[in-house]
Amino acid sequence: MNAIESAQNSHRSFVYGPVKSWRFGQSLGIDPIGEVSTCSFNCIYCQLGQMEVQTLQRQIFVPTSSIAEELRSLASYEQIDVVTISGSGEPTLALNLEEILAIAKQLTRLPTIVLTNSTLLGDRMVRQALRFADIVAVKLDAISSHQWQRINRPVETINLPDILAGIVKLRREYSGTLAIQTMVLSPWTTEMLEDYIQLLQRLRPDEIHLNVPSRPRALVRQLDARGNNAVKSGCGDFRQLPCVSADVLSILADAIQTTTKIPVRCVPIALS
Ligand code: SF4
Repeated sequence: MNAIESAQNSHRSFVYGPVKSWRFGQSLGIDPIGEVSTCSFNCIYCQLGQMEVQTLQRQIFVPTSSIAEELRSLASYEQIDVVTISGSGEPTLALNLEEILAIAKQLTRLPTIVLTNSTLLGDRMVRQALRFADIVAVKLDAISSHQWQRINRPVETINLPDILAGIVKLRREYSGTLAIQTMVLSPWTTEMLEDYIQLLQRLRPDEIHLNVPSRPRALVRQLDARGNNAVKSGCGDFRQLPCVSADVLSILADAIQTTTKIPVRCVPIALS
């Protein structure tokens, strides 16, 4: 078993994969959150299952030295295209995110990506840390507060206008590639599409990523579900969320791209 296979098979590993990402190729995952899933959201589609801890409190969950040690133990980075900071919850909750991004770049020399739910972008320290990432993909699943509450189930103290203001600040300060990632849970009305397009014209991302909840959602915590790993059968209860068709997604993507002139990438539904 080589080092990468060893990382894949260890349940205590903070470096996992590589996993095949429809957006980024072969992605080596770094999990700055660790054993207890922790996020400021509890999304209805979260592959990790029910969040174990919901908080906005930043802290060090995994020492940078542990992540560096695991990265150094890998035999090679040749088969890997990118390093993605994601894992067992919201990565910007990790106070050492900047250090993790710096050490990942220093050791791998690969492009680094942060997948964030956008809830902490109003925090200047978080935006400063994100400057060390080559790509930041920010979550925006809903335009109305009602839909956003229903889909993302945030901690009580957050609101959607503050999140949007945080994305605007990041756009202003961040010179890397900024992507908006949106989970499409059902066909959109014309009004929803118009509102979304209007918002994108204000946020001016470099790319838009449309995803669907095509994988079964674990009902309880599943460490194996980090990245886009398929969870193992026999590991608990699952629920399959309804999923829009490839045609619906493609029509939506065309409409957004044609109007905004911003490139839209869609998950290949059969392979997601
Ligand atoms: S999908 Fe992401 S943002 Fe939503 S609860 Fe899971 S880890 Fe948090």
